[in-house]
Amino acid sequence: MSGPELLRFAANLYRVPTEEGYFLVDAGLSWEANRLLSLLEPPPKLLFLTHHHLDHAGGARVLWERFRLPVLAHRQEWPYLTKEKPRPPLPIPLLGPWLANLAPPLPREALRPVEEGEEVFGWRVVALPGHTLGQVGLFRKGILIAGDALRGRGLPPRFINEDPELTKKTVRKILDLGVERVYVGHGGPLSRAEVEALARRLGV
Ligand SMILES: [Zn+2]
Ligand SMILES: [Zn+2]
Repeated sequence: MSGPELLRFAANLYRVPTEEGYFLVDAGLSWEANRLLSLLEPPPKLLFLTHHHLDHAGGARVLWERFRLPVLAHRQEWPYLTKEKPRPPLPIPLLGPWLANLAPPLPREALRPVEEGEEVFGWRVVALPGHTLGQVGLFRKGILIAGDALRGRGLPPRFINEDPELTKKTVRKILDLGVERVYVGHGGPLSRAEVEALARRLGV
């Protein structure tokens, strides 16, 4: 099986090959969903959401309506995905709370819980908390799909991280997994040496 295939949207989405077909990691913004749907024939086996942010989970509802596919996410992200709780506002005056919540809600029946240590088509689920508390990634043979645990060559801007200190500890955890290559939500991918350099800068 080859590695994840990048689909460039507002966030990086990944098509991950499986023995038969593929699954999708993240779903882009809700208004990108039509372009995404045009790339998803045949349909993915499932949608794995790294975290609840709009640029990663916004298209999930449209995908679920079209394919009725299972949507995997950590339980801590569910209240935001279903809109039982408003997402934390984006740090933009006045528009922040509105922008953060533009994604149409997912019905609870669409969601399947994932926990650290579970397997998804041979990939191991890894908890990557900090950017959001329920962020999860997928690890297999030195490759990590990491959502927004890293951004470009660094961390996401501090003000959009739910727990900035935990975000730093997660960088250490990523190295301790034995990663060689990290596929991230924006920019990247990163080599192990680049993650090591970041860990040194952060002092973790
Ligand atoms: Zn994010
Ligand atoms: Zn993002």
